Amino acid sequence: MYSANAVFDAAQAIRPYLTDLLAVPMAQSMDRQLAMLLEPDGRVSRDEKLLDLLQQEAMTREWLRLYVEEQRPADQILPILRTYYPLLAKTSKIQSPRYVCPVASCHRDWYRQTVAQAIPHCPIHDVPLVRDSKVGS
Ligand SMILES: [Zn+2]
Repeated sequence: MYSANAVFDAAQAIRPYLTDLLAVPMAQSMDRQLAMLLEPDGRVSRDEKLLDLLQQEAMTREWLRLYVEEQRPADQILPILRTYYPLLAKTSKIQSPRYVCPVASCHRDWYRQTVAQAIPHCPIHDVPLVRDSKVGS
């Protein structure tokens, strides 16, 4: 059994990887549900629900196991899973939306991993980055 803290921690850590682990509709659905459960005013028995949610799908269950039991860093788990499950590399993946500095000569860019992330400012020009219309949906 996983401790509540470990599950909570894993639930936050796994979110940027959901679109790599799961088919897109499931990844989006799970991300929304995780976001709700991770709210500070989460409902009673939130940790059990987080655990249930992450264990619904084989890929996120395996991710959780590697993260909590084997203490793998979040950014190393995807490559590990891809060697165990070669099919994972072929699942459809939405590209993370790319944001760019609106100053034409500036090449600063940034990829939004989850909708929870605020869009940063360009550190050079101090203007908000804008979505690059050439990429993504
Ligand atoms: Zn800039």
